Amino acid sequence: MSRKILVTNALPYANGDIHLGHLVGYIQGDIWVRYQRMRGNTVHYVCADDTHGTPIMLRAEKEGITPETLIGRVHGEHLRDFTDFGVGFDNYHSTHSEENRAYAEEVYKRLTAAKLIETRSIEQFYDPVKEMFLPDRFIKGECPKCGAADQYGDNCEVCGAAYAPTELKNPYSAVSGAKPVLRTSEHYFFRLSDPRAVAFLREWTRGTNAAGTRRLQAEAANKMKEWLGEAGQEGENTLSDWDISRDAPYFGFEIPGAPGKYFYVWLDAPIGYLASFRNLADKRGDIVVEDFVEAARAEAAGTEMVHFIGKDILYFHALFWPAMLQFAGLRTPSQLCVNGFLTVDGAKMSKSRGTFITARSYVTQGLNPEWLRYYFATKSNGTMEDVDLNLDDMIAKVNSDLVGKYVNIASRCAGFITKRFGGKLGTADAAATAAFKSAFEAGTIAQAYEERDYGRALREIMHLADLANQYVNDQKPWELAKQEGREADLHVVCSTALTLFRDLTLYLKPVLPTLAAKVEAFLAIGTLGWQGEWQALPAGHAVNVYAHLMTRVERKQIDALLEANRESLAPAAAAPAAKTASSQQRHAKKQQHEAQAAETASPHISIDDFTKVDLRIARIVGAEHVDGADKLIRLQLDIGEDKPRQVFAGIKSAYDPAALVGRLTVMVANLAPRKMKFGMSEGMVLAASDADGKTGGLYILSPDAGAVAGMRVK
Ligand SMILES: [Zn+2]
Repeated sequence: MSRKILVTNALPYANGDIHLGHLVGYIQGDIWVRYQRMRGNTVHYVCADDTHGTPIMLRAEKEGITPETLIGRVHGEHLRDFTDFGVGFDNYHSTHSEENRAYAEEVYKRLTAAKLIETRSIEQFYDPVKEMFLPDRFIKGECPKCGAADQYGDNCEVCGAAYAPTELKNPYSAVSGAKPVLRTSEHYFFRLSDPRAVAFLREWTRGTNAAGTRRLQAEAANKMKEWLGEAGQEGENTLSDWDISRDAPYFGFEIPGAPGKYFYVWLDAPIGYLASFRNLADKRGDIVVEDFVEAARAEAAGTEMVHFIGKDILYFHALFWPAMLQFAGLRTPSQLCVNGFLTVDGAKMSKSRGTFITARSYVTQGLNPEWLRYYFATKSNGTMEDVDLNLDDMIAKVNSDLVGKYVNIASRCAGFITKRFGGKLGTADAAATAAFKSAFEAGTIAQAYEERDYGRALREIMHLADLANQYVNDQKPWELAKQEGREADLHVVCSTALTLFRDLTLYLKPVLPTLAAKVEAFLAIGTLGWQGEWQALPAGHAVNVYAHLMTRVERKQIDALLEANRESLAPAAAAPAAKTASSQQRHAKKQQHEAQAAETASPHISIDDFTKVDLRIARIVGAEHVDGADKLIRLQLDIGEDKPRQVFAGIKSAYDPAALVGRLTVMVANLAPRKMKFGMSEGMVLAASDADGKTGGLYILSPDAGAVAGMRVK
């Protein structure tokens, strides 16, 4: 039975750039949505900018524009970033919308009727110059625990203490610099401490949805247990009521019947999911919103609502949000999919190291977003664990898995179909495809996708890629192509390999939608869906000319990306003092660099020096004598790129060119290309010899069995 699922991603705040840390959760959500659609399920995938609050209001004021102009601009930036990374929302809306106002007012009305809203007078810091109440993050002062200066009103970044802003010593307003005064104001609260809410949440957070899946991952449910305690235990309920209002001036929605009071962000932000969905439905005309949103209707219709969020907002989504929905008569979430934070090379993202990488810089530096999608997917296991972006590991995985294994299958076989068989496939080898299909269960990959354990899915898929490569290696189409009377065999081998390539593409498609679309076009097949049983591509089927599918990622591209993000740190309107400091820093860095360069004269090299040499397993796909050169052989080396590299090697004294074709060897792939009398030489093969290079003979290197063209040697 086909599922009907409303999927959301956390709403980014309209006050900053999307960075790679954000993208972990969006990419995980998008992969899941694409997988569900391939299974034939109906998915509505929505998101929106979270636009309300004091920070937006103040930033707009600082830029001399209205908040509406600011959030309009940021909306465009965010949507472009998501689109460029293949995150394909059906609708990307705004919490500053009439749909959201209507839902916020309706939920508030229903919660009031359920007697879960109450007012209370609270004391809060007020900026007498700016004439506004100050959010915690806009009050600074000395830490009450350690005395550190310039700490925020909620916690100390020096000693880590958490406290109330009223505890700060010598507090001042970060907006005007004035000494804040305490003022009393009436606030609205959602009574999360109400016994009905606590009892509901104890059951809800530990339970399963209609399909029998846990609503919360085990670790998230355990966290909630700490907060919610057990029924019947006195004093175990630690839930506090939620302050849902703010005083004017505030950028947001005014609370009906309460002039000068506004809904605070946690009331109207998650409701933005529903607002975006309503907006989509109004545009589309074929979605019945109530079947997804109203509790009774949703249950009858069997619809699901799945939220992808970061662990920083778990508390809001696992307690506040379901309680709000439940007591407003709306459907509660079917599942929360919570992801951890991103670290880069094992450390917190850092602006000074350039690892606080914006989505925009990644794109403008010319890096392929699907490299990141693939790498994040390999590191995703469906838990709340942090994801580490290890940059060297990303380079290795992308180059070895995607370029060296996957793309390599097509690049080694497609050309023969075009050149020798007029672009038409022959009959695939039934035994080979059957062996391939029996080597795995499509269900294993499907289950891993369903559980968001993408790392497991990709390990399984790469195992299949190994098998497909093994088939090509065993059959050696490049040799068949040279042998008289083996045309038919060559046709079978290449057709079989392309069928296996099609199957691999299908499994990779949720992760790599752009690449999969290129393959669909190349193979001239329709949109790949998830089916139980594959048919081989039929004999006589015409494919298109194979074109470049994916390039390798190079370390220098990553270094340029880090450098770009280091520089983006310089404040937009840098004061002269700041400029001096940064040019001094650059100067110091340059000196340090020179000192390091001098040291490399020593007989030892560092591991960094060694890894600069990009050694690759290369398959010799062509070798011939060079007219007019008595030492050289012209080699064509396949290292998993679109076309083989041409390399001139001084090995004619030791090798007959014909004996070299098909062999694997090792090449230096990042040697600067050199123009020789006979043409460009695009690398170097490694060979062993005596010191004089003559007397003891000449031996090119070979890897052990199992190595594949494109693998890195290190
Ligand atoms: Zn402190």
